Amino acid sequence: MRTPGTELLPLIPYLQDIRERCTECGACMKSCSFLGHYGTPKAIVACYDFTLPSHQVIAYECSLCGLCTAVCPEGLDPSRIFIESRRLFVDGGNFTASAYKAILGYEKCGISSLYSWYGIPEGCDTVFFPGCSLSGTRPEVVFRMFRDLRKNIPTLGVVLDCCTKPSHDLGRQKYFESVFGKMAAFLSCQGIKKVVVACPSCFKIFQQYGNSISVSTLYEHLDVSNHDGQPRNWDWEVSVHDPCAVRDETSVHQAVRGLLHGLGLKVTEMQYSGRHTICCGQGGMVGFVKPRLARAWSAIRRQESEGIPMVTYCAGCTGFLSQVMPVIHIADLIYRPEAVKNGNVLAARAPFTYLNRLMLKLRFKNEITPKTGRI
Ligand code: SF4
Ligand code: SF4
Repeated sequence: MRTPGTELLPLIPYLQDIRERCTECGACMKSCSFLGHYGTPKAIVACYDFTLPSHQVIAYECSLCGLCTAVCPEGLDPSRIFIESRRLFVDGGNFTASAYKAILGYEKCGISSLYSWYGIPEGCDTVFFPGCSLSGTRPEVVFRMFRDLRKNIPTLGVVLDCCTKPSHDLGRQKYFESVFGKMAAFLSCQGIKKVVVACPSCFKIFQQYGNSISVSTLYEHLDVSNHDGQPRNWDWEVSVHDPCAVRDETSVHQAVRGLLHGLGLKVTEMQYSGRHTICCGQGGMVGFVKPRLARAWSAIRRQESEGIPMVTYCAGCTGFLSQVMPVIHIADLIYRPEAVKNGNVLAARAPFTYLNRLMLKLRFKNEITPKTGRI
């Protein structure tokens, strides 16, 4: 029999920390509309009973962006309360998938045998994991990224699959761990030691749950100084939106800025950048239940950009922020410079994204001879 309150166990240290150490300084509330509505983390912990599903559910209005954690002068981790609350909500059988049907369907497709593929050749210990979004919106770019990476990693493989971050962030932890855990175990069994990702969300998942597999981003491997057909000296000023999934990865921030400088672009830093970056609005899938809160983030970005074109390195952030301002994916700057210059970059949309991923899979199948398939 379960002792009352044991369901709260993972949350208890975080709740205690907030109760005892939050000074209610308000630093975390400054830009977050969710906290702006519900109050300081201390006020939330005092007012809400996280054993109650009706209180746990407010966690689905938090973008899980981690800005509160990054700015807290007391070193508190308020965002942890909200992801743990989501997990309690799911474990209590209260989660209904209907509100998230679109994103969960997208994830289900990504892990299906129709869309996923493991191209692991003989001698391979490193794979490129482009993720679902970039593969769907920019399949040609993904293929060229793979070929560029392979110049330095001759036995490079490719894995077309979904990291299942949507389930992770929705609090479907057991499901997520089962699906991602099997993938990571398979990769380890095949001798894979390194994964190179194109998507910051995939980075976070591999970093947290990839066990012995090390992860880096494509942007840390690319070299634009000897890239074919590169227009130099763009004479453009750009700002950079760092995706919140990699807010703590200084080496990734630097690598991206290094690429931009290598292309001849002038980078103007915004107030919210690097470790203190903000969510694009898509984080935590808040837009499915509270679009107003999701839009509040992109409105901050729009205001901050002051009309300067913004570059980012996440296909999801690019898509979301593009609804309110001009945003360029760095991959387009590198691989489709003429289209960027002419203002006619095409990023495919559903349902074509699904077709693109199937075509990309076929293309990789013709490029790589895998030593084994994934069962
Ligand atoms: S920044 Fe930290 S101390 Fe300040 S209100 Fe937020 S959680 Fe409390
Ligand atoms: S994780 Fe982001 S959205 Fe959630 S409370 Fe912290 S700052 Fe606000």
